[in-house]
This record gives sequence, C-alpha cells and structure tokens, in this order.
Amino acid sequence: MRTQAPAPPRIDLRSDTFTQPTPAMREAMATAPLGDDVFGEDPTVCELEALAAETLGKEAAVLVTSGTQGNLCSLLAHCGRGDEVIMGHLGHTFLYEQGGSAALGGIHPRTVPNQDDGTLRLEDLAAAIRADDPHFPVSRLIVLENTHNRRYGSYLTPAYTDTVAAFAHEHNLKLHIDGARIFNAAVAQGVDVKELVRNADSVTFCLSKGLSAPVGSVVCGSADFIRRARRARKVLGGGMRQAGIIAAAGIVALQQMVDRLADDHANARRLATGVAAIPGFAVDLSRVQTNIVYIDVVHSDFSAADVAARLRQHEVGVFDTGPRRLRAVTHYGIEAADIEEAIQVFATVMA
Ligand SMILES: *Cc1c(COP(=O)(O)O)cnc(C)c1O
Repeated sequence: MRTQAPAPPRIDLRSDTFTQPTPAMREAMATAPLGDDVFGEDPTVCELEALAAETLGKEAAVLVTSGTQGNLCSLLAHCGRGDEVIMGHLGHTFLYEQGGSAALGGIHPRTVPNQDDGTLRLEDLAAAIRADDPHFPVSRLIVLENTHNRRYGSYLTPAYTDTVAAFAHEHNLKLHIDGARIFNAAVAQGVDVKELVRNADSVTFCLSKGLSAPVGSVVCGSADFIRRARRARKVLGGGMRQAGIIAAAGIVALQQMVDRLADDHANARRLATGVAAIPGFAVDLSRVQTNIVYIDVVHSDFSAADVAARLRQHEVGVFDTGPRRLRAVTHYGIEAADIEEAIQVFATVMA
C-alpha cells in the first residue's frame, strides 16, 4: 500500500537527522566511481574510510548503515557472549538501540549513572567492574557518549576521556565512544577531534546528523578491530554493494560540513536565551553547549505534548521528551532568522 509522507514543519527543530544533503553532496553522489564494497572494490567507500580514519587519528575505518549499526558492530567486535559492557543509564546505546548487544550478541549491559554533564564517575565505574568469580559475567568494555544526547548535548573533554581510557586499560577493559555528534564536541571546544578519541579503542560517528549526509555512520579503530567490526557488519546485513553513492556524500560531509557546526551552536544558544526569557518556559542556560536545547514547560496548564502540538500548528517542530520537557536541535538548513521566528512562536503559544 502506498502512503503519503507527512510534510515536515517548516522550522524543523525535532532533530539534526532531518538535515537534507547539500547540493555539493548531490553532485558528488551523481558522479562517484563505484564498485562492489563487500569485495572492497568501491573506490569511493575506500576513500571515505581512509579520510575518516585519518581525521579521527585511527588506523582504519568502516562505513556502516547507521549509528546503531556502528555501535553494535563495535560491541560485537570488542565482546563475546557472556561478556559485560558498562555504560551510562541514559546512553543512546542503552536506551535507544533495542538492547541489540544483548538481543543479538549475548552481551550483558551494566549501567552506571550519567551525571548531568554526560560523564560517568570513576568511582561508579570502579564499583561496576566485576571480580574474577564464576557468579559474574566478564567485564570487557566501557562506552562513553560524546556529545551526550539525553544530557543536554554536553561534550566530554579530551582530559576526561583520557582519564576514562587510562582507567579502562588499567583494568584490562576497552573503551568505545559513541561519537554520533563527536564533531559538535570538537567544534564547541575548539579542539581537533583526534584529541577526543586518541586513547579510545574505537569510535562511531554519524555522517547523517549535523554533517548532513543522507545516510551512514563510520566506525574507526585499529586495523585488527576494524577487521572484526567489518565481519560483524556483514552478519547484521550491513554489507552494501555500490555504497560509494552514499560514501560520496560522506566525503563532502567531512570536508565541508564540520566547521559550520559552530553556526548551529550559536543558533542553539540564541534559541535557549530567547525561550528562557518567555514566562512559562525554563532553560538551564549553563547546560547549552552544542546544538541541543532542552526546554522545560513550567506553566501548570500545559504539558510538553500540548506545547509541541501548538508549536507544530505554527510550523515549528520540536520533540517532547518527557511530560514537561521539550528538545530542540539546531542544524544545517536552520538559519538565524528561523531561530528568531521560532522564539516568537514559543512566545505566541504561551500567551
Ligand atoms: C543518533 C544517535 C545514534 C545512532 O543513531 P542512528 O539513528 O542509528 O544513526 C547513536 N548515538 C547517539 C548519541 C545518537 O544521537
């Protein structure tokens, strides 16, 4: 049965996954040289993987269909059945990936509390590591998320990440970074992205969010790790044939779309300050670091879902992520003027 796609809101702040490919991406996709990537013969995929590995400062990389697949390939490459992975209780991998590592890999998840800044405390990690005892699974891996989606888009610093990596390695564990928005973290801190992952064993990042490519994520790590992640990708159905058509957009994303993330961060800050000044809304401005803004509905007559529905009637899209909480995300395609208009709409729906 054919169904018609619903029209998106004109000012779409629901997620940076709604970004459209740029004209340069369309052009690159139309002309990319292609081959069968399952046989390693797609020159454009090879070029993207080499560029991604170099950009992240790792030996090798593999293109995957999505961030979810990238994280799962990574967990499958690091862990075996009965092993345990330690991650934040609000992490994307724990909450929003269907428990794939347990469902498909027999990998047991253990959560520790995410702090408001997205970090995991070393004391909590230490307490979560299992002793060598036949009652317990074997601790194998720690996962960090940078930036942290559910923790206000907060970034992790190079120093913090290095500390967790050293801690992990001291305890014979690996460190994986879910870096879906790692370039937002790098741009917001003014650091080279390499510094954010230099001591991690693996990292996944998304081409399809702020970087605006239509499809894809990339996993980076050592050559040996990537060989295992590539095997996992195949069994998950992620071996794609003339995938260069996707990779071509990913190359443009890495070459042209990183620096402009600073505009998204400026727009997020402007949105946050504008909405915070409207009675009925509250925003913790100290938490707005990248392109994600969480807005609390403090007017007792409205739920977040009510407000989201009213905003939508005025062509502004946001997600309600809790009974009293909205999330707005800035991205390519959202201009400063759209933010001013959105702030007006927030004021209108609360009036
Ligand atoms: C979007 C996202 C992912 C992966 O999502 P896909 O939709 O599968 O590409 C993973 N982690 C975080 C933090 C994300 O925001």
